[in-house]
Amino acid sequence: GRRIREVCEGFGPQRVEFARLGGDEFGLVVCGDPDDADLMRLGERIASHVKLPYQLDTAHTGLSCSIGFASFPDSATTSEALYECADYSLYHAKRHLRGRTVIFSSELEAEIRSRGVIENLLRTANFSTEMELVFQPIVDAMSEHTAGFEVLARWHSSRLGLVSPADFIPAAERIGLIRPLTQALLVRALATARTWPDHIRLSFNLSAHDICAAEGILPLIPIIEKSGLPPHRIDFEITETAVTFDFMRAQQSIATLKAMGCGISLDDFGTGYSSLSHVHRLPLDKIKIDRSFVAEINENPVSHKIIKSLTGLCDDMEIACVVEGVETRAQLDSLRRLGCDFIQGYYFARPMPGDAIGDYLAREGQRLEQAGARVVA
Ligand code: C2E
Ligand code: CA
Ligand code: CA
Repeated sequence: GRRIREVCEGFGPQRVEFARLGGDEFGLVVCGDPDDADLMRLGERIASHVKLPYQLDTAHTGLSCSIGFASFPDSATTSEALYECADYSLYHAKRHLRGRTVIFSSELEAEIRSRGVIENLLRTANFSTEMELVFQPIVDAMSEHTAGFEVLARWHSSRLGLVSPADFIPAAERIGLIRPLTQALLVRALATARTWPDHIRLSFNLSAHDICAAEGILPLIPIIEKSGLPPHRIDFEITETAVTFDFMRAQQSIATLKAMGCGISLDDFGTGYSSLSHVHRLPLDKIKIDRSFVAEINENPVSHKIIKSLTGLCDDMEIACVVEGVETRAQLDSLRRLGCDFIQGYYFARPMPGDAIGDYLAREGQRLEQAGARVVA
């Protein structure tokens, strides 16, 4: 707070009012009709000042901050609406431009409107007819046999057409519908997985709200029990961000699922924060390395090194390592050399409908048999 105030006091020619809103949020009112360039200059000064190291008793530590601005009267004309626009700019900065400054714009306004539309249509959506499940193979890196499938949700809205889960899952979380949605999807995913050969596992995504709610994941237990699929064939995928949301509750939910015999995978690994402490404190079976690292594995030495250290970490901790987003043979070869255990991505297959899986596994069997025959010959 002190550092931000110093920047505000030294900023001119506009006067800047500065206050703490609560928790780790602060508010600024920039008076005197600043333009966007002034606001960016102020935001960047604050961010770089906050970022300087902090000397604690015996240690140094660091902080960063994201900033959202909205302008009167361009963005909104009432104080409440103006605040909401600034808040949305901040939310956008946190999600897409961490540590940076974002000024409310017509693009963000359009984004808010489309979020509202998705939320409203989701409220009246029929989860059993409009939601579809697709399945993407998770393949053993060495043998190239499919070890399991991750189930991914698709929403075919009669009004909007196909909506990405990256849009409707967060919308369901915002309007409090994620838990009934998770339950509806789990029932159907388990029913599909029951038709698979015994060695094929199911990976199912849980949201932060599923594992951090007060009653925890209790409603999922009878669904798993009734499904007839043995819990040891199910992996629940939990993102690092979900774990950070409420670590104590997340830990309890994970313990309950583990006690039933289910596996736990840490999803999108490497994109969140304080990763290592969580890896140590949670009973994880698999870590899924985020696809952002794979895209450049052969072009960018940094990506290569990151994956190398993550696979080393998994090895040391005896946790299996899954790499997602593998699109080319060259990426697969590098990952095999680095000792990755499982591979997922378009190189093997795009997500497919449940009724395509039988054929897919049969073709894979033939392909591997032929390859085996060639090796023997
Ligand atoms: P995720 O769990 O990281 O899922 C992997 C995403 O990467 C999927 O996108 C998948 O289609 C995509 N993908 C797989 N292989 C490749 C590849 O080789 N290249 C590229 N570029 N992309 C690849 P999708 O299906 O759009 O899902 C997006 C996110 O939505 C998921 O990310 C997951 O966080 C969430 N999600 C999807 N279904 C569910 C669900 O049933 N429940 C919950 N809670 N979240 C879900
Ligand atoms: Ca996942
Ligand atoms: Ca992922």
